Amino acid sequence: SDSEDQLFKVILLGEHGVGKSSLARIFGGVEDLQDVDCFIFPGNTYDRSIVVDGEEASLLVFDIWEQDDNHWLHNQCMKMGDAYVIVYSVTDKASFEKASELRIQLRRARQSEDIPIILVGNKSDLVRSREVSVEEGRACAVVFDCKFIETSAALHHNVKDLFEGIVRQIRLRKDSK
Ligand code: GDP
Ligand code: MG
Repeated sequence: SDSEDQLFKVILLGEHGVGKSSLARIFGGVEDLQDVDCFIFPGNTYDRSIVVDGEEASLLVFDIWEQDDNHWLHNQCMKMGDAYVIVYSVTDKASFEKASELRIQLRRARQSEDIPIILVGNKSDLVRSREVSVEEGRACAVVFDCKFIETSAALHHNVKDLFEGIVRQIRLRKDSK
């Protein structure tokens, strides 16, 4: 049915501490529960409908990448997504390098598929401790053939655009089939 077609599984990937859970909680609209929630449940899934370009879409956002160091779970994550958000922190060069690794892993896992991937440079509010420039992020996204956006979970900057962008990317691919 149409409503099933509009339920999209989105997987958050990225190094520890880059802001995956913060972004997911803002999306889920539960940012107030932050610390308690995060401590008790290291992994979470958020289910929400958003209207994008006048049409409703339901996103299931999985923040489970770091739940444990289980290879099975990581393989599942690589297989199950309709779209991927690869997050790094603009204040952490190592997390940016890790994002490239994840992109390569993802390409290997989903070889012939054209799945939407958004590279996200989070913590754009931390201007003085920036280690990765906007240009580096953008260039990386070009090489990896994916979309790019910088966000600040702390300021809620571009978070809405990020999730709307995911829906648009998924729809573009569906429409071209
Ligand atoms: P995760 O390990 O990827 O899930 O990252 P978290 O969402 O737990 O965030 C790690 C830390 O970075 C927490 O202390 C957050 O409050 C902080 N953080 C996350 N996003 C931002 C951001 O955009 N700006 C700033 N200044 N801090 C952030
Ligand atoms: Mg987390």
